[in-house]
Amino acid sequence: MARYVYDFVEGNKDLKDLLGGKGANLAEMTRMGLPVPPGFTISTEACREYLLTGNMPVGLLAEVGEHLRLVQQRTGKRLGDPHNPLLLSVRSGGKFSMPGMMETILNIGLTDASVVGLAAQSHEERFAWDSFRRLIQMFGRTVFDVPADEFEAELTAARAAAGVATDGELSVADLQHLVDAYKKVFHAHTGRDFPQAPHEQLYLAIGSVFRSWNADRAVLYRRQERIPQDLGTAVNVMAMVFGNRGEDSGTGVAFTRDPATGRRGVYGDYLQNAQGEDVVAGIRNTMGLGELAGIDPGSYRELLSIMERLEQRYRDLCDIEFTIEHGKLWMLQTRVGKRTPAAAFVIAAQLIDEGTITLDEALRRVTGEQLALLMFPSFDLAAAPKALTTGVAASPGAAAGAIVFDSAHAAVAKRPVVLVRRETNPDDLPGMIAAQGILTSRGGKTSHAAVVARGMGKTCVCGAEELVIDVEAGTVTVAGTVLHEGDVISIDGTSGKVYAGAVPVHPSPVVRYFEGDLAPYGDPLLSAVQRLMTHADHVARLAVHANADTGPDAARARRFGATGVGLCRTEHMFLGQRRELVERLILAADDAERYAALAELLPLQRDDFAELFAEMDGQPVTVRLIDPPLHEFLPALEDLAARVARAEALGEDPGHDGVLLTAVRRMHESNPMLGLRGVRLGLVIPGLFAMQVRAVAEAAARRVAAGGDPRPEIMVPLVGTVQELETVRAEAEAVLAGIDGAPPIRIGTMIEVPRAALTAGQIAHAAEFFSFGTNDLTQMAWGFSRDDVEGAFFGRYLELGIFGASPFETIDVDGVGELVRIAVERGRAARPDLVVGVCGEHGGDPASVRFFDAAGLDYVSCSPFRVPIARLEAGRAQILTEGGSDSR
Ligand code: PEP
Ligand code: MG
Repeated sequence: MARYVYDFVEGNKDLKDLLGGKGANLAEMTRMGLPVPPGFTISTEACREYLLTGNMPVGLLAEVGEHLRLVQQRTGKRLGDPHNPLLLSVRSGGKFSMPGMMETILNIGLTDASVVGLAAQSHEERFAWDSFRRLIQMFGRTVFDVPADEFEAELTAARAAAGVATDGELSVADLQHLVDAYKKVFHAHTGRDFPQAPHEQLYLAIGSVFRSWNADRAVLYRRQERIPQDLGTAVNVMAMVFGNRGEDSGTGVAFTRDPATGRRGVYGDYLQNAQGEDVVAGIRNTMGLGELAGIDPGSYRELLSIMERLEQRYRDLCDIEFTIEHGKLWMLQTRVGKRTPAAAFVIAAQLIDEGTITLDEALRRVTGEQLALLMFPSFDLAAAPKALTTGVAASPGAAAGAIVFDSAHAAVAKRPVVLVRRETNPDDLPGMIAAQGILTSRGGKTSHAAVVARGMGKTCVCGAEELVIDVEAGTVTVAGTVLHEGDVISIDGTSGKVYAGAVPVHPSPVVRYFEGDLAPYGDPLLSAVQRLMTHADHVARLAVHANADTGPDAARARRFGATGVGLCRTEHMFLGQRRELVERLILAADDAERYAALAELLPLQRDDFAELFAEMDGQPVTVRLIDPPLHEFLPALEDLAARVARAEALGEDPGHDGVLLTAVRRMHESNPMLGLRGVRLGLVIPGLFAMQVRAVAEAAARRVAAGGDPRPEIMVPLVGTVQELETVRAEAEAVLAGIDGAPPIRIGTMIEVPRAALTAGQIAHAAEFFSFGTNDLTQMAWGFSRDDVEGAFFGRYLELGIFGASPFETIDVDGVGELVRIAVERGRAARPDLVVGVCGEHGGDPASVRFFDAAGLDYVSCSPFRVPIARLEAGRAQILTEGGSDSR
């Protein structure tokens, strides 16, 4: 028979698929002999079955009963006992951390009978009744969807009736009345009494945690974080311990290293006389963990020694949730902690130095996405005005935007916004995703806002207590300054400072390091980046080239580590003042006029290429022949038509505009992206491609003569059939044969039409190299226009989960990826030494780089700025897959 329940003593940290992250780590800590309250985990498999059938899996409840007996034995307490009741927490915990997205129910086991027992046994009547009212509230809301504000309204009424300001001042009698009032609310909404059988409470709670896997916010979070939707959550049932039993109790969160900077030390927050949820929710402001040393030195010392053991066991930064109950320390959770991108690099390098992990392991622990975040600019502090206030630096970066107080408004805002809230909760997620940054007035580094923002790599300042936020009035006031909704503010997630207005930004130190402006020595982040990049380059198989059209772009690409130009889009050289020459080319009445225009373009093109070859001396430079429809170089049809109409209305001669208008009308296409462009253009406009080939070869010949080492390649765009390529190739070879002193120049093609991918075996006979143009290939494989659809319906598609990510950003492995694999295979079968690369946007996307490595490409080419990201991922691709992926 299937088995669904595992005691904490049975599991270990490697069983996350089965027990979820929290369950696996609770088991690991239990095995290490750490003080974990007794409990057990219901597997994710049980959840999947429950969600599939809508029923508890057969045998599950009996198993729960068995394991409950063990917990009762270990604690010496019994569930529902009117004298010494056991109370349970029921917590969700999937394979991947989803902070605050699913449900937790505390104090299960309290009933009219056992509350009296708890009061008597604990000598704390107030605590017992307060726990009971919390159970009814949490249980009602979570299991039966009773609106939270109805309970809140009763709580507010109870405070008013008692004439007190805080919940803590309510007396036992007040709380007893409140329990009655809560029960009425519960009955009114559910049509039944609050369950008095503790086992029934437990089973209902387990079911509701299962269901919370599919809560809207959880589904949205998973989509955002690319967590599969079908994993299900485990459920952890654990004996309750209480941090809210007086000043010798409390609860806290600790990190073994600073999750913001990676610095070694003891970091965390502690809240005296409070339950764990109070810290995570950021509802009350906390004290630094160090202060615990003065309050409870014994527990503090024990915590430090546990933290050290956890670091050794997990070989990484751990974060920890703990509770102290009457001076006794309990561990409630640990996991390998989330961290900022900077901390990820710094910690990986520290752990190499400490001898804990290898270079390969360190490289596995940092990602291209993290490096990308480190390459964002930050505020120029010299130009910053005096800060309005300083909060907790919760998630680094610089964000400026208009103030919005409401997450729904933030989610639909048309301009950059900063979400300003007292605190956030999981319902704020859409607004947090949409905002540039998040600013809260309450809570510390472990508040909801901080944890979620760090996970998203979004700038966040929290706990800026001086801010007085009045949502009704639409204002935030600080030290006499009143800001209104819509006013621009700037927040610095690295220093915690908040500024009025938009503060200028300055480039990231990591970018300055890549540029060669900053030396890495002595700077923990820069030296960590250098070390990991060096290792990535060392292990990578895939080369990284850059898409660069100008000398300065190529120079930057080279500084950033590119070993070639994978795509020079020559059409960019036809803009500006040269437009006029292109106009003459298009309007040419006969061959003589056309060749005259081309002859004028030739030296200009030659100079462009000479500059590129100089910057990329000794490395390949792939020059793509002109690709876009020529009318893109002419004025827009509407503008011309309006000008001509105006001239005619005034009885004037429209002159040149009239000629242009006729040409534009003649060349008008309904679907220009599927029209006269790419190789088709070269085949219908005599001399155009030949001029470009000549410019490449002459520039190269001159550079050779000057002692340089140019390595040009000529690339034909938009080929769909080998005959097109053969024709262009013959023309190009004829031109090349007539130029003395040029180095050998390879001729290849882009693969960006699905037909080209499928007939790659034929095309390879005429191509020495392939470069996948995955922008066009994606457009044509899906049949949607890359210029139109992202704004039109991608948002909806992402919302519906049809895409996990835009296929224009991350390669669609199943569809477009399959075309890539087919083309590589057929191309290399026909020509074993075929060189294959990619130059679409995907060449700089971390997940896509790993795909291209696995598909056996030789290089990826991306914008200069993304070159370091691609280099890092090219290295990671080799060590993430066993033994690399050299499929050649
Ligand atoms: C491509 O299609 O992927 C490509 C690189 O060409 P362009 O973006 O210039 O069409
Ligand atoms: Mg293209």
